[in-house]
Amino acid sequence: MKNDIESANKGESGFDADDLNLIKLAQEYSDEDKARELLERLRWPDGAICPHCKNDGKTKPNSKLTPKAGSKSAVRKGVYFCGACRKQFTVTVKTVFEGSHIPISKWLMAWFIVCSSKKSVSAHQLHRVLNITYKAAWFMAHRIRFALGGDETKLTGTVEVDETFVGGKGEAKTNFSRHVPVVALIERGGKMHTRVVSNVSQKNLGQCLNECVDKSAIVNTDNHDAYKPALKEYKRHDTVNHSRDEYYRINPDGSIATTNSAESFFSLLKRGVIGTWHRISAKHLAAYLDEMSFRFNRRKDANLFLDTLRHMVTAPVLTFEKLTA
Ligand SMILES: [Zn+2]
Repeated sequence: MKNDIESANKGESGFDADDLNLIKLAQEYSDEDKARELLERLRWPDGAICPHCKNDGKTKPNSKLTPKAGSKSAVRKGVYFCGACRKQFTVTVKTVFEGSHIPISKWLMAWFIVCSSKKSVSAHQLHRVLNITYKAAWFMAHRIRFALGGDETKLTGTVEVDETFVGGKGEAKTNFSRHVPVVALIERGGKMHTRVVSNVSQKNLGQCLNECVDKSAIVNTDNHDAYKPALKEYKRHDTVNHSRDEYYRINPDGSIATTNSAESFFSLLKRGVIGTWHRISAKHLAAYLDEMSFRFNRRKDANLFLDTLRHMVTAPVLTFEKLTA
């Protein structure tokens, strides 16, 4: 039976986004069984599929094991038995939740907080509000970020490309060496990608463009010379001259040359770095950027929380060993 939040007005598994807040989520999904059943409905809308052999249960049924009262070796709740490979599985196997000792209900809350925090949330904050250890919160936040990355869609139309530097606080003589260059590529009115580069050279900028932008695009940049060679292959290259205070220009054909969307993203990013994360290592910067751009790309999605959960049950999984390598 569907509960109130899910059946509100968005069909089978949709929340009423206007009506959803952390209190409602806590009220309806703090129960671990309900939280797990929500994941099962999102991951397997047509019945359980074995994550080991992909058996969908149509010819060789997957059966749910029921814990027997009084049994010495009682099975955990939510365990299925695959009719094909005969292995056991649960909804969390091969997902971001696998092997986590944090209850699914707390994962749901963490996802909700990450989705609804425009300037992100720190591991310290998750540690405090979810009552889990800092180390668990830190790993959880990184697993979430890792799951949000990996979008390879090429940008088209008019694409704004700009670069900024992140970090570099401290003494003036060592300041510059700690600056990490970041490139943002934003399809006007659409999606965006980010890249961390070692420096803003012609080669690095060319590679960012090649990976992220379709050759049919009109590309807008500032008048940094390093963009020019790579952009010869694109439909058109419009520049604005920031050193002459030109940030916005209407071309003779009525189109607009600007990098203001990229500038807006950078100001949000820097508020995240200064106001939320405080200190991020260059090693993990790309993951923080993935999180920021994931939210930016879905800024108009009224059902972001559930859509993100759907994404998460099929998203790539980060192991602790890989994270700390
Ligand atoms: Zn199987």
